[in-house]
Amino acid sequence: NTFWELGLSKPLIRACEEMGFTCPTKIQEQSIPEVLKGKDVILCAQTGSGKTAAFGLPILSKLLSSRVRFTTKVLVLSPTRELSQQTHSMIKSFAKFTKLNCQVVMGGASSTKEANLLQEMPEIVIGTPGKILDHINNTKELICENIEFLVLDEADRLLDMGFIKEINEIIDKLPSTRQTILASATMNDSVKGLSKLALKSAVKIGK
Ligand code: AMP
Repeated sequence: NTFWELGLSKPLIRACEEMGFTCPTKIQEQSIPEVLKGKDVILCAQTGSGKTAAFGLPILSKLLSSRVRFTTKVLVLSPTRELSQQTHSMIKSFAKFTKLNCQVVMGGASSTKEANLLQEMPEIVIGTPGKILDHINNTKELICENIEFLVLDEADRLLDMGFIKEINEIIDKLPSTRQTILASATMNDSVKGLSKLALKSAVKIGK
């Protein structure tokens, strides 16, 4: 299979080519069509399997088919600053030939600077749960009413790091009509519990 055959939009395929992604990995081949169909997806995937593209490409593709812009539609929750930055950098590369705007917010960075960037209404916001919540509740620059996609990235690590309270509070503020993707290297009981709470009739991909 090629990225083209999976139904992704042209500017994203061009970006993949430029990044040296010639064919999709197994998890991408399975996940991309399901996310494009609008399904909630559980990705059982390690770092290195291509999981960021497995959720990032189909979500960006869906954003590109909508005319409504300048409103935050995608929230990616990441356990650490490092992963937030990596994901931000990869999503920006995918979006290189589009007008989609992607911002990162994370612990340790200036909330004032981040709040200014959030005023541009980026379609995609990536960050650590505490800082995301700070922008929802305190700076009030992160508007959740038009969120269409929630990604819980490295869910096992999000839970290990004790972010369940923040995750629950964030989920409570999102429209229930959103599409949710959960990625996790391990599927223990707490990850299963989180997927029951956050996802609806999810398709499971990977081990
Ligand atoms: P991830 O699992 O998202 O952390 O990705 C792991 C690495 O695989 C990243 O450095 C990507 O650049 C690379 N990668 C992801 N998908 C592909 C692909 N389809 N072809 C080649 N490299 C890829």
